[in-house]
Amino acid sequence: MSTSTDTSVVVIGAGQAGLSVAYFLKRLGLDPGNDFVVLDRGPGTGGAWQFRWEALRIGSAHRINDLPGMDALGLSFDTADRTAPAKDVVADYYRQYEEYYNLQVVRPADVTSVENSGSDLLVTLTDGEIEQVVTTDIVVNATGTWGAPFIPWYPGLRSFEGKHVHTTEYTDARDYEGLDVVVVGGGTSAIGFLMELEGVARSLTWVSRRAIDWRADGELNLEAREEAVRMQDEMARAGRALPSIVSGTGVPRTRRIQAAIERGLLDPKPMFSSIEPNGVRWADGTFQRADAIIWSTGFRPELRHLAPLKLREKEGGVVVAQGASWKDPRVFFAGYGPQASTIGANRAGRFIARQVVATLSKLQNLA
Ligand SMILES: Cc1cc2nc3c(=O)[nH]c(=O)nc-3n(C[C@H](O)[C@H](O)[C@H](O)COP(=O)(O)OP(=O)(O)OC[C@H]3O[C@@H](n4cnc5c(N)ncnc54)[C@H](O)[C@@H]3O)c2cc1C
Repeated sequence: MSTSTDTSVVVIGAGQAGLSVAYFLKRLGLDPGNDFVVLDRGPGTGGAWQFRWEALRIGSAHRINDLPGMDALGLSFDTADRTAPAKDVVADYYRQYEEYYNLQVVRPADVTSVENSGSDLLVTLTDGEIEQVVTTDIVVNATGTWGAPFIPWYPGLRSFEGKHVHTTEYTDARDYEGLDVVVVGGGTSAIGFLMELEGVARSLTWVSRRAIDWRADGELNLEAREEAVRMQDEMARAGRALPSIVSGTGVPRTRRIQAAIERGLLDPKPMFSSIEPNGVRWADGTFQRADAIIWSTGFRPELRHLAPLKLREKEGGVVVAQGASWKDPRVFFAGYGPQASTIGANRAGRFIARQVVATLSKLQNLA
């Protein structure tokens, strides 16, 4: 069954980016649930955080920035509970935020396609049973990356008889008890897994494609971060697939991490060159047995539902300028490319909400 409703703006995704856009749209005078609708396919609040693994804690590596206007609720991630799972704390804070600002997020609302229908955009969504079509002037895509995990291809990948596990599938260290585990990736997720699996797995091997850029605790690698943001921006403008932003930010040597380096846990090997049914092999012939390979190798932007709009370039990405698609300026991207962190998502919210309102008034003048 299919029903149809109209609104001016559809925001897809209620993570840090989507909520931030919604907050600023409201501040600019748009009425949530009426002038704009926020759709999210997750069962609960928290964006991708609700799906992260149990042992992840707030501040275990990077800072989580507060949502705009969160101080009015007396909440801040800086003072949040660091003993409870981050997934629960973030879900709880976002829930309070959505309620306080009455953002009326619709969930579960899985957007399966966005189509062009002349002057309108048609957004098709489902709650798992009923399909619905929303007609809108503007779409803000804030779908993050969690739904599009990336595993690089290596010879023999499919021949592996153990478990391939991407970051998104990791739930509990106990699943690896007594196993030989290879962890792939140079970011904080890989390091977090190694620390959790120490003394649980039978053997742990860490491999990374690039050398780890260790930073003193609290030291922000501003130059590298700027370079990473610049590269993401350049790639986004050129419509190319986006590199990982974490690759430019470095890994903070917190006290826990420093201690783990000193006891020899965090000593990465270069990347292996092939995968065999029972393990991985390096170019020099060295072999490591493995029951599981954990791929902390990042994500790609989740854009499948936008396929009917044909926004992608042949290079794989979408050209984004001034927050919107170059090919269709009614489609905005929040939390995309250089905005893929909580601080970036916040900044995007303010900027994109203003652009959206400016576009709406242009469209009104044309009508
Ligand atoms: C393991 C891990 C740890 C991280 N830690 C930090 C950190 O400490 N600090 C930091 O700043 N950043 C961190 N990041 C980056 C983090 O992802 C961003 O900071 C931020 O949470 C992203 O917000 P977002 O709104 O763009 O995406 P998300 O939080 O992924 O939200 C996107 C939302 O869109 C919804 N959605 C997706 N597709 C659809 C669809 N088709 N229809 C409807 N809804 C849809 C999803 O359900 C989700 O709720 C981390 C990332 C990872 C993977």
